[in-house]
Parts: sequence; C-alpha cells; structure tokens
Amino acid sequence: MTNPISTVHDGDVLVVVSNNPPVNALGQAVRAGLQDAIAQGLADDSVKAIVIRCDGRTFFAGADITEFGKPPVGPNLPEVLDAIEASDKPVVAAIQGTALGGGCEVALACHYRVAVPSAKVGLPEVKLGLIPGAAGTQRLPRLVGAEAALPMVAIGNPISASKAKSIGLVDEIVGEDSLAADAIAFARGKVGQPIPRTSEGTANQDGVKNPAIFDEFRAKNGRKMRGFDAPNAAIEAVRLAGELPYSEGVKKERELFTKLMTGTQSAAMRHYFFAERAANKIDDVPGDTPLIPIAKVGVIGAGTMGGGIAMNFLSAGIPVTILEMQQEALDRGVGVIRKNYENTAKRGRMSAEQVEAAMGNLSTTLEYNDLADCDLVIEAVYENMDVKKEVFGKLDTVVKQGAILASNTSYLNVNEIAAATSRPGYVLGLHFFSPANVMKLLEIVRGAETRHDVLATAMKLSKKIGKVAVVAGVCHGFIGNRMLSPRQEQANALIMEGANYWEVDEVLLDFGFPMGPFQMADLAGIDIGWHRDPSKVTTLREALCAAGRFGQKNGKGFYDYDESRNRTPSDEVRALIAEFAAKSGTPQREISKDEIKERLLYPMVNEGAMILDEGMAQRASDIDVVWINGYGWPLYTGGPMFWADTVGLANIVSGLEKYGLPVCDYLRGKAERGERFNG
Ligand code: NAD
Repeated sequence: MTNPISTVHDGDVLVVVSNNPPVNALGQAVRAGLQDAIAQGLADDSVKAIVIRCDGRTFFAGADITEFGKPPVGPNLPEVLDAIEASDKPVVAAIQGTALGGGCEVALACHYRVAVPSAKVGLPEVKLGLIPGAAGTQRLPRLVGAEAALPMVAIGNPISASKAKSIGLVDEIVGEDSLAADAIAFARGKVGQPIPRTSEGTANQDGVKNPAIFDEFRAKNGRKMRGFDAPNAAIEAVRLAGELPYSEGVKKERELFTKLMTGTQSAAMRHYFFAERAANKIDDVPGDTPLIPIAKVGVIGAGTMGGGIAMNFLSAGIPVTILEMQQEALDRGVGVIRKNYENTAKRGRMSAEQVEAAMGNLSTTLEYNDLADCDLVIEAVYENMDVKKEVFGKLDTVVKQGAILASNTSYLNVNEIAAATSRPGYVLGLHFFSPANVMKLLEIVRGAETRHDVLATAMKLSKKIGKVAVVAGVCHGFIGNRMLSPRQEQANALIMEGANYWEVDEVLLDFGFPMGPFQMADLAGIDIGWHRDPSKVTTLREALCAAGRFGQKNGKGFYDYDESRNRTPSDEVRALIAEFAAKSGTPQREISKDEIKERLLYPMVNEGAMILDEGMAQRASDIDVVWINGYGWPLYTGGPMFWADTVGLANIVSGLEKYGLPVCDYLRGKAERGERFNG
C-alpha cells in the first residue's frame, strides 16, 4: 500500500500532506505517516516550520471507524499528537472541509490552526456514545475555556470556522482557494516566536472560577442528554481539565473513554451509525439504476399528513400542488403550512424570504387535471380502501405516464391500491410519520410490482428531503405500526390485570421512550375514530369519550392536564378501568415493573422476527432504524433488534413463554442456535 502521507519542502517550511480518500480518516497508515513526517521535519535543520494539510475535500474527518472494536495497531493517535505538540518548530494545521473528532484533535495538538471560511470543526464522538480519546477533552478547554468547550464535547455539533475563530480555536481564517499557500506564509511568520502548546493553556480556569457553568449546562441540555452516558462523561472530563494537571486529566479521559468504548451504549450507537447507512441499500436494486427526475409533486389531501408532506418538498425547493375536495379544506391546509413556516421563522430557523420562497412554490387545486404534469403524486386522504382506490383510479387517468403514484397509507394493502391503476409498477407506499415535516422516518413500501427505478428514485428523494428511509414489504402496518400493535395489546391487557396505566407509561419512560402508550393516546386524541354516541360504551376508550375525556386537547384523557400540560393520574379513569376489569372478570394482582417491561417489549421483538422471516424488512438493522426514528425507541439501546441481542434471544424466548405469549419459529430457531439478529 502506498504511504498516504507525503512531504514537500517549500523553502524552510515542510508541508506534510495526507492523501487518504475519501475523508482522510486517521487509520494506522496515516498515523504512522504523520509520526514519521514530524520526525523528518525535526531532524532536518533546513526546516523551520511545519504545515499539516490534507488533499481532497476535507481535513482529517475523524477516526477510522472500521478500526473500532479491533485490536489496536500502533502508533496510537495520542502518541502521534504528543509528538506533534512537542515539536520545537511551529506546526500549523491547515483546515478545509471538516476537522472532526480525531481530526479536530490533530488540529488541537498543532501549535496554530488556520482554516478556510467554509471549514467546520467539532468533536462529535458523543454521537457515537463516546468522548474524544486523544486528549481532545483536555486540550480544548485549555485553549478555549470550559464554557466554550462544553457544547462541543458534550453535544458534539460541529462549529463554523468563524465561530471557531471567535472562541480562539482557529487563529486565522484564510482564503477559500489559497489555503496551502496561506498556511505556509502563516507558518513562516511564526518562526522564531515562542511555541504555544495547547496542553499548557490556562483558559480552562473559567470552570474553576465559576463551577456553576457545569450545572447550568446540564440544566439547559438535560432533555437532550436524558439516558445517555457519554454526555455526562464528557462534562466530567471537561470539568477535570480545569482541576487536574494535564497528564492526570489525560489519564482520566482515557478511563472514561475506555468505559464508554466497552459499554453497551456506544456499541448500540455505532450499530445505529452503520444501520442508517445500510438502510439506503435496496438489496436487488442495482446502485446505478437510472432515476426518475422529480421536478413537481402533487399531494392529495390537505389534512394533518398532506400538509406536512407538502412542506418537505417545498422546503427542498420542489414545487407542490395540493388537491382537495373543498376550497375550505385547501384554505385551512395552506393556512396551517404558512403558520408552521412562520413559527419556524419566529424561532430564527428560517428567514422571511425563505418562508415566502417556500409558499411561492405551493399551488392548490380542486381539479385532478392540474396534477397531469406531476412527476410524483402522494395521496394522503382518509384511511379507507374504497376512497384510496377511487383516488388512484382518477390519478391513473390524468397523471402523465412514467410518474410515480404513492400512498401514505398507515396499514392498507399497497398491492390492492396499485391494482386500481393500469400501472402498478409505478405505485408504492411512502409512509410518512406525524408531524410529517418534522419526523425523520419514511417507510418506502414496496409493492409486488413496484419497479426498480421507482424504488431507487424514492430512496434518493428521501435524502433530498432530509428523511431516513427504510424499505418495507406489504403487510398490515408495515414495519413500524405492525410492531406497535403487540405492544399496545399488552399495555391494554396489563391495565386490566391490575397495573396502573401511569406505571405502564413510566416503565417506557424509564426505558428511554419520550412517552408511554397512554400519554401517546392522550396526545393523539382518544376520540379519533369514536362513533360519537355516549350511550354506546363497550370499550375503555368509548367509556373515556363518553365521560368527555378526549385527551390533551380538552385537558383530560387518561390523565388530567393543567394549563402547562403537566399530567396527573385521574381517579375517575382508575375507577373506569377497575369497572371494566370487574365486568370482564379479570383477576387483579400486583404487577412488577420488570413484567411490564418484558410484556411490552418482548412481543415487539417476536413481531420483528416474523417481519424478518417474511422478508418484510431487508435486515434486522432496518427495523432498528424504523423504531429509533419513527417511534422514539432510545438510540442508546440500538433499537429493538439490537437491544434483543444484548438481552439475549434465549432470554427473550423464555420471557415470552413465561407470560404465555407467542414465540415464532424464526425467533426460537435463532435463540436455540445461539444467534443474534445483528451480526
Ligand atoms: P386527515 O383527516 O387529517 O386528512 C385527510 C384529508 O384528505 C382531509 O383534509 C380530506 O378533506 C381529504 N380528502 C379525503 N378524501 C379526499 C379525496 N377523495 N380527494 C381529495 N381529498 C380528500 O387525515 P391524516 O391524518 O392526514 O391521514 C391521511 C392518511 O395518512 C391516512 O391514510 C392515514 O392513515 C395516513 N397517516 C396518518 C398519520 C397520522 O398520524 N395522522 C400518520 C401516518 C400516516
């Protein structure tokens, strides 16, 4: 293999160049090359300063993630960085693209950093359940202060070059197209000056003088960090950077890093990192399948989903025409879209011009003919097969040949919908989640006849509108809703057997979900689909509606809500549940939190196994991607199938058997063979 690191002399400056496409990851050969190059620069008396830069589109964009979990081969990054920092000739990092993770740590170990205006710098390790492990948590606060370091280390979002300059992380912004030359000139200007070593910096004393910054940071970001181990370790490491000598701080960082690296959370988050990428691949659809250009989109229905779906395309600059049955429905729908955009603008996340640009791309109609030239039409009308068939029949007669016709159905059979047209190959499901302009997940439902170019186009388009897409087969509820059903069934059964409904919610909250099933029912509205006859009560939901308990919208559902939407359990609901349980003769007993958790989650794993067995999901990790992005399954457990692997499939099977719940052959077989779902 050729050495990815080369050196060139520019007068008295040695330029060390990395050429390790695609992102100059810091693999073993790069680390060894850097170490050698620095040694060469130090040994050569004609060299007065050193510049480290990268070819290609980016500075070192981080560790080589494929080395994770494998036995380390030296030199390791910390020793290379210590050698760079120890140099008695000034070393300058020349940054373009991104300097992330290990890349940022390289830059921190250099004596100076120059960057082009478009560069970004950051320590995103926390997003993989880790903290920087090459002294990033110790050098950064010493350079920029604990307060500025905290969000970078504990939240992990990269910052712009100008922000980096303002906090002292970058010394100079140089020309976008003259980085190499500007960095050399900068380095030459530092020859003969005292060498500033980041590990000797004192900016970290801000956290010692004002220790409250750590608690304030925790208080401000608590919700985002709930349940995650790495952000707390990151905060701890930054705090210690102020209190311990550098060498002690580095040791502490290593301890914290190793604990995270060998723990389940980081394994789960690294699994998710690869899972999201794997989900883009449609197994039998070649990567070079020609795509169908999508320049104009039609949406049928301007309700809850139609409006949100339209916003995705408008925000991406793609014109949308929405069709409705009545002008009032159109006006209402357009009003909601505008209000959503204006709220985003109020929060400073969109400019007034951007709002108008998006709205300017929106047109409305009551006539199917106006959709004739759309390249993609997405139907989001009532969840009713007859209505959907009628809509698709009409679309088939007016929309140009070669256009894609999609349904946003939650449960219905996409093959049956496709059969209402003369072009089933162009029909598929595009299942968005509510609110459709916010939720990341998109299930691409592949019909029996859906063409390859239609699938490939849908996958590509999902990226353009910022979604995480997963391909699902045609079955009741596809991947996500199909797995929600057994959980809901158990939630309902548990409260009839004596578990309090708020305990059921709490178990899922403790597990890491943003809300439990009964909170979710209150949020969605208990009266959805209610027949509106208070005298007809056969289910608990009907009883709640008859008692005027519609959910959050009128301040009472399963819970009572105050003005700030704080919830308290309701005695009235408790009594109603007890009444139903008594009527059905269900014996009441104490139910432990463990039982609640196992009965809610193990049946989901069983359903996931059936989905895999039937080929309704391409791979177990796709199921994890669905549940993490569409239903709030906690990322740090890796999703239901990865989580099942960590519990042990044999334990899942014996748990299901203990509660008399079904175990499918596929799950049982895997458990008996000691296999895992993921790898
Ligand atoms: P909604 O009742 O809010 O909106 C449906 C809209 O379709 C209404 O404005 C109605 O006027 C219009 N409509 C009905 N028939 C029509 C027709 N023949 N031609 C034109 N317009 C027509 O419903 P929704 O919640 O937006 O759901 C729409 C679809 O999306 C359903 O299939 C639903 O299962 C699915 N879905 C809903 C959610 C959710 O959380 N609400 C999530 C995912 C998928």
